[in-house]
Amino acid sequence: MRAPYRKWMASLVMPGALAMLLGATAALGAAEPDHRAVAITNVMIVDVDGGHTVGPRTVLVEDGRIASIGAPGAVRIPDSAQRVDGRGRFLIPGLTDMHVHLFNLSSHRPPNDWSFAMYVANGVTGVRDMRSDAASILLVKRWRSAVDNGELVAPRVLATGIAVHGKSPGDAAAGVDAAAAAGADFIKVFSDVPSTHWRAILAEARSRSLPVVGHVPASVTLLDAANSGQLTSEHLTQAYEACSSAEGKILEERQGLSDDALMSRASSQEAKVLDTFDQAVCRRMAKALATTGQVQVPTLVLADEDSFAQSADHGDDSRWRLLRPDEQVRWQRFLADYTKEDATLADLRWPIAHRIVSIMHQAGVPIMAGTDSPMPGVYPGFALHEELQLLVASGLTPLEALRAATLEPARFLHIEDTSGSVAVGKRADLVLLDADPTKDIRNTQRIRAVMLAGRLLKRSDLDALLNDAAKVKHP
Ligand SMILES: [Zn+2]
Repeated sequence: MRAPYRKWMASLVMPGALAMLLGATAALGAAEPDHRAVAITNVMIVDVDGGHTVGPRTVLVEDGRIASIGAPGAVRIPDSAQRVDGRGRFLIPGLTDMHVHLFNLSSHRPPNDWSFAMYVANGVTGVRDMRSDAASILLVKRWRSAVDNGELVAPRVLATGIAVHGKSPGDAAAGVDAAAAAGADFIKVFSDVPSTHWRAILAEARSRSLPVVGHVPASVTLLDAANSGQLTSEHLTQAYEACSSAEGKILEERQGLSDDALMSRASSQEAKVLDTFDQAVCRRMAKALATTGQVQVPTLVLADEDSFAQSADHGDDSRWRLLRPDEQVRWQRFLADYTKEDATLADLRWPIAHRIVSIMHQAGVPIMAGTDSPMPGVYPGFALHEELQLLVASGLTPLEALRAATLEPARFLHIEDTSGSVAVGKRADLVLLDADPTKDIRNTQRIRAVMLAGRLLKRSDLDALLNDAAKVKHP
């Protein structure tokens, strides 16, 4: 992670402005609920569970659910059903981005509802929001029911969590209690949390059956975090250290530090961490990590954007116009702060990130797809497809990469009975592709239609959504 990002990550939860959040609900689409039946005929289904492509099949969707799947001719299609010709096309489950930000708590800006169209147009029908607060959670609940009712075109927010740091271990535990009372689905921890507070957070969260996910604190080893019950490591936090032959010494130098002092020590050590990458050490660690069940959300696309952020002229990117103007300003400021030193570190980090993911995957460590959208250079929705390609470049098969954005998140979030694959009874969150994604992962971008809780959005609808997104003005 680049230096300014570390600072950003380290910031504490600020109370969200309720007035701004309520104002944002004016952005709810006024579309009519659509409970008609839709039949996708003669389509090939990518069975992410079974691991193969089956078909041709006819898939009948009714009331937002997959009502039946069968050989063409074997499924009775109601006369009133809308028909979609699936011949030569491929149906995959709606994609999930496991690391996004829908709220701007630090900068006190309104929520990132401008990004909804970008997710949906890219087939991202579910997201895990990584940082909210009590007021934001109320808004998430309204978004969820509006999506289910067909009133809002947005990805379903599958989970949202509250970041806890605390001024003392006791205060950290109280922060967990407050997050539970606010209805958080998980507790998020950041890199700057002192290990004493972190242990108090884990203990309190365990007593409330709340998952703890996020960054592994910079003074804790990845294996310790995994063995202590932190369910994810995001952005490969502490994985670089765990793959260094000097991990012991590096972490020793961080003991007793917290907050800014800890982050600046970690920053100053980063070149050394990358320089001492050791494949054998990494392999041994990954083997041990695989037995813990901890899941990695490497957000490779974030590291990738890092390596060219300095030179990238976002104004030339056709997606730039889709960002809300205040977000464009944020990206521009970020790029202006990006130093040559940041770029040098990013170039060192990038190949190592790939090698770590590859080693972890070979060792059987579970991996989920996430992007950290909308970090500068990381375009919501679009970035998930880039992440899938980067996972394939790190050794996952296209099917495994698809699973990392469908079935694995569903299992992780305990919603496998309603999400994560194309199966009867599940929510009709689906993506219809013009080409086979198991042959070439880039084909996930060849989107013919998206179905959101049973609501069909054809290519022309998706293009219209994006055009409308480009018209969003300053909040
Ligand atoms: Zn994040």
